[in-house]
Amino acid sequence: MGLFTNKDKACPICGKGTPRLFATKIEGAPICSECNNKILADQGMVDKWTFENLKEHLAYRSENKKLVENFTPTRTVTHEREMVIDDVNQLFYFKSWIEDNPPVFKFSDITGFNIQLGCDTVETWCKGMERTPYQPASNGILAGISMLASLAGANKDDKDESMYDNLNVRLQIDTPYLHEYELCSISVSGQNQTAYMDDVARQMSKVNSLCNLLIALSKEADNGIGTASGSAGVQTGTTTDTNQVVADLKKFKELMEAGVISAEEFEAKKKQLLGI
Ligand SMILES: [Zn+2]
Repeated sequence: MGLFTNKDKACPICGKGTPRLFATKIEGAPICSECNNKILADQGMVDKWTFENLKEHLAYRSENKKLVENFTPTRTVTHEREMVIDDVNQLFYFKSWIEDNPPVFKFSDITGFNIQLGCDTVETWCKGMERTPYQPASNGILAGISMLASLAGANKDDKDESMYDNLNVRLQIDTPYLHEYELCSISVSGQNQTAYMDDVARQMSKVNSLCNLLIALSKEADNGIGTASGSAGVQTGTTTDTNQVVADLKKFKELMEAGVISAEEFEAKKKQLLGI
């Protein structure tokens, strides 16, 4: 409220006051910051929206929130961010400190990823491609970067020439509102080129295991469960194939016996799988 809130221009979605400055506009009318904060879509997409599009999007986002709240993880993997995975329904999301409604993706949404160091593309992977496992010593791409780094520093004294860059991994996905999603942005630095390259190699090994996991999930989507659910919606997949149900039950029983999930969680999963 107050100086920066425009009471005269109520948000067309919820009726709250809208910001006087820098408000997101839909059909030329400003919307409130609360509604604006719920939007998660590709850059530039919002500009073309009508009120109807925005309402559909907000409904989609609240469905997503339900998915997050009712998420049944089978495992959690931590790289730069915590990745929460539901292997049964083939869903995953990344935890975020700033966001209580992170997008939930299906394994089958994954179409690729892109690794960038500063302005240089280190690797681009697309679904269906094989990936060459990362080897710090003989990685051609890193050798290329090393060469670029030495070219950049060719006229400088190599010693005490501190270098700094960001290592970014972006997931390419096929969902109605998001086609790219930043998974991590890690700063790499060194007092000189050698130290810098060491740091790059160190961070690359973390990034690599994340990327290999994404490929594995994408392959899993091709192999099985939920392939029939080609819809762009975000419903949790319901399994109709009996063999698959049995296989899943076995998997969960093993997880329970291994202590990964509790007996209660197993019972809940069993009921869900059997539809009781
Ligand atoms: Zn609003």
